[in-house]
Amino acid sequence: MEEVIREIAIKNRLRYGQANPKKVLGIFLSENPEYKKKAKEILPKIEKIVEEINNIPEDEFKELSKNISLESKKKERELILPNVKDKVVLRFAPNPSGPLHIGHARAAVLNDYFAKKYNGKFILRLEDTDPKRVLKEAYEMIKEDLDWLNVKVDEVVIQSDRLDIYYKYGEELIKMGKAYVCECNPEDFRELRNKGIPCKCRDRDIEENLELWKKMLNGELKAVVRLKTDIKHKNPSIRDFPIFRVEKTPHPRVGDKYVVYPLMNFSVPIDDHLLGVTHVLRGKDHIVNTEKQKYIYKYFNWNMPEFIHYGILKIEDTVLSTSQIYEGIKKGLYSGWDDVRLGTLRALRRRGIRAEAIYKIMIKIGIKQADVRFSWENLYAINKELIDKEAKRYFFVWNPKKMIVKDAEERVIKLRKHPDREDFGVRELFFNGKIYVVNDEIEENKMYRLMELFNIVVEKVEDDKIIAKYHSDDFKIARKNKAKIIHWIPIDGAIKTKVLMPSGEIKEGLAEKDFNEVKEDEIIQFERFGFCRVDKKDNIVVCCYTHR
Ligand code: GLU
Repeated sequence: MEEVIREIAIKNRLRYGQANPKKVLGIFLSENPEYKKKAKEILPKIEKIVEEINNIPEDEFKELSKNISLESKKKERELILPNVKDKVVLRFAPNPSGPLHIGHARAAVLNDYFAKKYNGKFILRLEDTDPKRVLKEAYEMIKEDLDWLNVKVDEVVIQSDRLDIYYKYGEELIKMGKAYVCECNPEDFRELRNKGIPCKCRDRDIEENLELWKKMLNGELKAVVRLKTDIKHKNPSIRDFPIFRVEKTPHPRVGDKYVVYPLMNFSVPIDDHLLGVTHVLRGKDHIVNTEKQKYIYKYFNWNMPEFIHYGILKIEDTVLSTSQIYEGIKKGLYSGWDDVRLGTLRALRRRGIRAEAIYKIMIKIGIKQADVRFSWENLYAINKELIDKEAKRYFFVWNPKKMIVKDAEERVIKLRKHPDREDFGVRELFFNGKIYVVNDEIEENKMYRLMELFNIVVEKVEDDKIIAKYHSDDFKIARKNKAKIIHWIPIDGAIKTKVLMPSGEIKEGLAEKDFNEVKEDEIIQFERFGFCRVDKKDNIVVCCYTHR
């Protein structure tokens, strides 16, 4: 963080002659909105750094700032692919075990971004070679999710359509003496392997291997096929790793037609080669897999694609595990794949997060080597820029309690539906002395300001209602008396509303009568409460909370 602040301070001095702590703070917060809540704590740090920078003698400063261009930030952000020669071919290769979540969005967006940028091709490859981890509905759900993200798919490839291709290349490796059928039980193999000792199956001759391979394919033999790598490789997991295994669980798509399935480190390089993939973008967690896959390229004498490993994106505070979600749905713990507590794209969409915001944040995160923490605050800040311009404003009173206001004349309050959009028109609130307010620690004999209306003094707090009295109109009086501003809506015409919070909590309340005009899927802002997406309009309107 200090490095970032230093750089901003240097640029600020470069631009204005002297760096200004408040300006530096403003720039820092606009680039890192997740620190907004900590602005007070950061300011002294910034002041210290700014003072240091301002005290650097002119010639020393010139030297220091030589490599800092005022435009450098922009350049850094431009994403490029290395070694682009002819047509760029990229692929996004999720496992169809459920719909996509925010973690998948990174690979999907980056591949799409580069495919569009270089006029290349984008392949969606559904990696369904583990029958136990396939969900039939996921094939369609993934396509819908990509469509929503505005990712343009040029070709769809499904690995379970290609098992015969994998068999053909597997058999070739056996014939080349580069792969062998291994019947050892996995624990025994692991023990030998960890000591760097080959198992008894490694030296079997090719004919015998081919016979056993046929038996595997017929379902007569439960064994694995291993690739001959380096039995003394410094990473034990790379020593003769398996490339095929027997799995008799019926496949949700191809049924029980096949019992032998390739493992990822075999099917992936075969497909990447055959489909002409030029650049493989994947996380650093795949580095060992890449190393394994390179053996396949070497044995077949194939050109390797460019492998790009980006840092891990740590996503906290949300449930992403597909199997955990699926179990939860079956048990009734989650309402479905779009339950607002989840990190699936459909849950975020339901909450009112725009696909464009997700696309933008993934481009911003980019393909840096360093691990990064995913900032929900950043996503919300980007999303807010998109929805703030369009969201109509309404009053919402949660946990409502009746209030009778005495001694006040009836009036009609006209408020804009959007502060900057005159064309959205106005909404009207009829005040006739009977209102609802948020039942939130309202005390007797205290002054309050009814938002956009006038000041009142509370006389009595009863179980079912509050009795208050008109005091004055002037906002200054409210301020002088430190009166809390409270929300209110007229009792007549109030609309029953439920807001589903991201935590799963439901806030029940009432919205003003003009809220009636909103449409399903519209994003609105309940003033001082937050943005919400209208999920369902029945006799009770259900909204999903977006963010503040
Ligand atoms: N299906 C694999 C995954 O989602 C593919 C990864 C890759 O090869 O980039 O982890």
